[in-house]
Amino acid sequence: MSTEKTQYALNLLESAFINTKPRGVGCSFGKDSVTAVHLARRIDPNIPVFSIMTIFKPKETFEYLVEINRLLNLDVLVYMVAERVPQILIDNGIKVELLSPDNFREAQGTHENFLHTEDVDRCCHLLKVVPIQKAVANYDVLIDGLRSSEGITRQNLQEIEITGDLTKIHPILHFTEEDIFEYLKKNDIPIHPWYLKTFPDGKRYRSLGCAPCTRPIFDHESERDGRWQGSKKEGGECGIHTNQIKPSKQNIPLQKTFVMEKQDYNC
Ligand code: SF4
Repeated sequence: MSTEKTQYALNLLESAFINTKPRGVGCSFGKDSVTAVHLARRIDPNIPVFSIMTIFKPKETFEYLVEINRLLNLDVLVYMVAERVPQILIDNGIKVELLSPDNFREAQGTHENFLHTEDVDRCCHLLKVVPIQKAVANYDVLIDGLRSSEGITRQNLQEIEITGDLTKIHPILHFTEEDIFEYLKKNDIPIHPWYLKTFPDGKRYRSLGCAPCTRPIFDHESERDGRWQGSKKEGGECGIHTNQIKPSKQNIPLQKTFVMEKQDYNC
């Protein structure tokens, strides 16, 4: 990985942080958002970190959250639609804002797998989009771990995105999948165990979400091709990054409060 890309990301964050508060960084505890969190903390060691977890996330993701939270001293705040806080989060003193499952339960009806098999958009909206709207309500700036090479839905993103009353910064937009693993290794950050699994046919997990909607894929596929396989949003987005999660109160975009010249680096 070019150190230029890392330096560029750090410069972008430094510029973004000069006049922009309150801010926070979202972390799904996949490889990319952990990288973004680590970079953001190098510039602002106290930046708040939050995570949207769901009842369908693999148990390994909860275990990894606990491990990384401790290792990086994140003091992460988890938002979660659920009946109760998962025991592993209680046992490890993780802060959780529990959100009512009433709407999700009502939409599920009596079929407990109904939404994520029959209406993935609604399931993602209720379990992910609604919680992140709450998580960013008090932030002006959100840092996340989107990368343009992950799949078709992220190809044309800009590093600075202003949507409603929220400015989003994508510091690792130009990192490749290899860059991410190299950055984590170089900084002694363990990776989620699902990335280490290789299946007999050569497939592996390359983008992680909820267990029912995450499948291993081949190396020649796009990273997000394993998400929501067989549904209408195969390889797509859950809605966290495509919905306006903090609508403008005045319906006018925020002024950019910082400017950064694009630098050259080796891709
Ligand atoms: S990723 Fe799947 S299980 Fe998770 S919220 Fe979306 S549809 Fe539901």
